[in-house]
Amino acid sequence: MSRARLLTFGAVVAATVILAVLGYVSLRQWQASAELLFREQSRDMVTMAAEKVEMALLKAEEECLSSLQASLMEPTLRPEALEEWRRKNSIFASLTLVDRQGRVLYPPGAGPPALASEIPEGLWERGGRRHLLVGDQVVLAAVIPAADGPVLAVLGRSVEAVKRDVLAKTLGGLEGPSVLAVLDAQGDLLYTSRPIEQATRVLTVAFGEALPTWRVALYQPPGVSSRGDVRRQAMLFTAAFALLLLVIALGLLATYRLLQRETEMARLKSDFVANVSHDLKTPLSLIRMFGETLELGRVPDEATRREYYSVITRESERLTRLIDNVLDFSRIEGGGQRYDIGAHPVEPLIHEVLDAFRYPLAQRAFKLDVTVAPDLPEALMDPEAIKQALANLVDNALKYSTERRRLEVSARQEGTSVVIEVADEGIGIPAAELERIFEKFYRIGRSETQRTRGSGVGLALVKHIVETHGGRVSVESWPGQGSRFSLALPIAPSPPGGEGGGEGST
Ligand code: ADP
Repeated sequence: MSRARLLTFGAVVAATVILAVLGYVSLRQWQASAELLFREQSRDMVTMAAEKVEMALLKAEEECLSSLQASLMEPTLRPEALEEWRRKNSIFASLTLVDRQGRVLYPPGAGPPALASEIPEGLWERGGRRHLLVGDQVVLAAVIPAADGPVLAVLGRSVEAVKRDVLAKTLGGLEGPSVLAVLDAQGDLLYTSRPIEQATRVLTVAFGEALPTWRVALYQPPGVSSRGDVRRQAMLFTAAFALLLLVIALGLLATYRLLQRETEMARLKSDFVANVSHDLKTPLSLIRMFGETLELGRVPDEATRREYYSVITRESERLTRLIDNVLDFSRIEGGGQRYDIGAHPVEPLIHEVLDAFRYPLAQRAFKLDVTVAPDLPEALMDPEAIKQALANLVDNALKYSTERRRLEVSARQEGTSVVIEVADEGIGIPAAELERIFEKFYRIGRSETQRTRGSGVGLALVKHIVETHGGRVSVESWPGQGSRFSLALPIAPSPPGGEGGGEGST
């Protein structure tokens, strides 16, 4: 391949590789940023949910504390009033009231809570509340002004009530396929906005100070996660990209093949020109040589003179055949060749062709066998064209025979065809070449044919002629032993009156 072509191919391959790398990198980046965006959106959503839960919890606690304060403001502390308060504020499972001196005011008979000593003086002074962690339980400690001075209320939450009154109310109305869940300190599921089943956890976010040990988690059911979407899209993109690369590769291959064929064709054409020129030169120089000898009167006897004349006739016939081949071939290439097809007998045509080869056959001592089946029907053909095809086959048989010189021409009926066969015992054709010898300009691998004259269009012409007649040409060959070419032509329909068949042209 030439340098320029190699460069072009290199450029296309390089462009494809660059495209592939760019595609891969942008796909990865797109995948990463889609993933990031998805995580950010999920985090925002979960953080918002956590804030909502916490706000709802704080609000509920606030309301409870207000009503507790109202009860404590009564002049005497009545345990019944507190029982009543507890019934109404089920979010707290336990309530202990302690005064500033550490005495337990409620429930009667209970010991002081462990954390009473941890309450800083400031809280007693100013009032207020804070969440404290006892074990893994959150306890609300609030200093509430009461009738007889500030009272410390220690409130333990009821997990069930929190689930029911806070989590279910704030997280229950979530839309879309995602599931929100709340996990406890051990990571066990406390609450889910809907059944989780096979959903996978995407991320978790911690609550604030009011729920220090719990976390909110986002779950995505299988198949609907947007991460899955990203992955599916990435796969689709990759597949499309792979297809694109495949198409480019196939295109490259096809272009390469085309270029190879074109190069081969250009080579064959230049060989053709050289071969034809050489083919024309040989008979011309023979004609000239014998013509000049005759003209100079140097031929002693009549018999030799007659031989010279016949050489001139034979060579000019050969020249005509050659020029006809080339002209017909170019006419076929230009699409201008027309045949005058009619019903004609085959036998006279065979004899006419063989007559034209009488001299070279005799000169090279060819053994000739002609077998024409009796009662052979007429064939549908343009006799001139079929003569030319046959002459090409006979010419080849002569050209490609060496020691064993035998030519067998036969004609017989086979079904609805008349089959004409031309067989020789020459050099034969390798099996791999049998298909290609009918291609235009094609000549078998130089070594065997270099010494023989030829243009490589003879068999292409034979094939074209026979196929335009609605027939077919085939070949059998045994390298070193000989070849057998067959032309099958459609037989002419026998007319009712016994006259010749239909006329037609292509
Ligand atoms: P050419 O002008 O070279 O004979 P053809 O188209 O007639 O061109 O034939 C193509 C090639 O097929 C020849 O070059 C030759 O190699 C091979 N070929 C054709 N006929 C025969 C034959 N009878 N025996 C051996 N080889 C043949």
